[in-house]
Amino acid sequence: MYTAIGYAAQSATTPLAPMTFNRRSPRPDDVAIEILYCGVCHSDIHQARNEWGIAVYPLMPGHEIVGKVTEVGANVTRHKVGDLVGVGCMVDSCRHCEACAADLEQYCLEGPTLTYATPDRIDGTNTMGGYSSSIVVSEHFVVRIPEKLNPAAAAPILCAGITTYSPLKHYGVKAGDKVGVLGMGGLGHMGIKFAKAMGAEVTLFTRSASKAEEARRQGADHVIVSTDAEQMKAAAGHFDFLLDTIPVQHDLNPYLETLRFDGVHILVGLIEPVDPALHAANLVMKRRVLAGSLIGGIAETQEVLDFCAEHDISCDIEMLDIKHINEAYSRMIAGDVKYRFVIDMATLKA
Ligand SMILES: [Zn+2]
Ligand SMILES: [Zn+2]
Repeated sequence: MYTAIGYAAQSATTPLAPMTFNRRSPRPDDVAIEILYCGVCHSDIHQARNEWGIAVYPLMPGHEIVGKVTEVGANVTRHKVGDLVGVGCMVDSCRHCEACAADLEQYCLEGPTLTYATPDRIDGTNTMGGYSSSIVVSEHFVVRIPEKLNPAAAAPILCAGITTYSPLKHYGVKAGDKVGVLGMGGLGHMGIKFAKAMGAEVTLFTRSASKAEEARRQGADHVIVSTDAEQMKAAAGHFDFLLDTIPVQHDLNPYLETLRFDGVHILVGLIEPVDPALHAANLVMKRRVLAGSLIGGIAETQEVLDFCAEHDISCDIEMLDIKHINEAYSRMIAGDVKYRFVIDMATLKA
């Protein structure tokens, strides 16, 4: 066993605080990783505060992990000591169901083992995430970080990046397509970059006109202020795809009307009931599709990392001292980060 340190919540109402705990010794197919960087995702806040009702404590968040391999099990072939590697939202799955067989472990019919707050499939202990000094993960769920990428800025690709890349890829976004991105946070700004790199004409939908210049800096060709009914109306029937990263309830109807016939509205941020209600005519009359998408499989996570290296894409980050994690949560809730905090794990030792 390894002794590890990390930051965890002991209950839904207590701030994250340092904690010492054990990591298992590597099993034959495991890779042990010294964590260098870990991105901070909104899911971490939801889970630490039990806002989804599925938290288990102590809860150590973190699923955008980049680090160096320090030890490998006897059967490991994909990684070796010293490699720069990443771990995203999942650390295991059943590995034999239809979804797993199709490299879509995130849709494992038995449920994937998430990187934190999920029972390990073998020993039943709750998984502990990346706000820590080390992690031990089966090699299948460990990806290679391309040398060209800045390792700190690569960390958020493991959740924010794959979440936006996977649906654009799945629905075949290609050169000339008109893609609208709803919201410009951690997910949205990555969505703009990916859609642009795929050759699409990209429009950001935002509530504040003040974000226009910043959106263009991220690669957006156009900006629509979603609170301006005239601008929304002028975009009617225009888009092939909408990538909706808005994580709170919002009216989908005005957005659906901006899709052309056969257009696809893809939800990646919302996991609550749609409210106000969807007017079915907005789908039926134009054969439009309302879809959802969850992160991406492990093979596709490697693919997006390689895509980022090839197209020089990285996440805009603000480095964080882990001692300031609770303040960072408050700032994220206020929308005050461009666009992802990444914990420098060297600060854990200080
Ligand atoms: Zn995440
Ligand atoms: Zn499965």
